[in-house]
Amino acid sequence: MFDPNQLPGPHALAYLRALLRDVPDFPKPGILFKDITPLLADPRGLHITLDLLAQRFIGEHVDVVVGIESRGFIFGGALSARLNASFVPVRKPGKLPWKTDRVAYALEYGEAELEMHVDSIKPGARVVVVDDLLATGGTAHAAAELTRRQGGVIAGFAFVVELDFLKGRERLGVGREAGPIVYSIVHVD
Ligand code: AMP
Repeated sequence: MFDPNQLPGPHALAYLRALLRDVPDFPKPGILFKDITPLLADPRGLHITLDLLAQRFIGEHVDVVVGIESRGFIFGGALSARLNASFVPVRKPGKLPWKTDRVAYALEYGEAELEMHVDSIKPGARVVVVDDLLATGGTAHAAAELTRRQGGVIAGFAFVVELDFLKGRERLGVGREAGPIVYSIVHVD
C-alpha cells in the first residue's frame, strides 16, 4: 500500500537537503534563513520536489492550490498543474487588483498581512495551501483562514522545508480528529 510517510527515499532526501543553503542572520540577526534558490536552479531537484508534493496529494481530491507570495507561487503554481487543480494566489496587501479579504498575523520575524480575492474559492472546494517553508505556522494559518472564510475546506498544507523546533504544524490543526494533512519534504530539527 502507498505509504506517504515513506516519501521520499533516503537518497532523494539527501539530494534535496544538499540543495538548501543556510544563510545566517537574514533578514534579521538570529534568523538562519533556508535559501531555496539552489534547489530552484537544479532541474533534477526541482523535479523531485514537485513529484513528491504531487504524490502526497494525488487521490485527495484537491480542487484548489493556494500559493503564498512569493516562494509559495513557485511550488504552488507547478503543483496545481500536476494535480489538475486551479491556482489561487494569496498576496501581500495592495498587490491584488480586485476586491480582497485581508487577515493580519504574527511572523517568526515580525508582523504581516495577507490578502485573497473575495471570489477565489467556491464553497466546499478542497484546498491545499502551499509555501516553501513552515516555521511558526502563522503565514500558512492566515492563508487557511482566508480560504475558510470563503467556505473552502482545508485538505492539507504542503511545504518543501519544515523547521520542526518551531512546532508550526501544531498550529495548523494536526492531531485534531480528521485534521488536515501537513506534508513537508525536508525536516530541520
Ligand atoms: P511562519 O509564518 O513563521 O511559518 O513563517 C513562514 C514564512 O516565512 C514562509 O513564507 C517562509 O518563506 C518564511 N520564513 C520564515 N522563517 C524562515 C527561514 N528560517 N528561512 C526561510 N524562510 C523563512
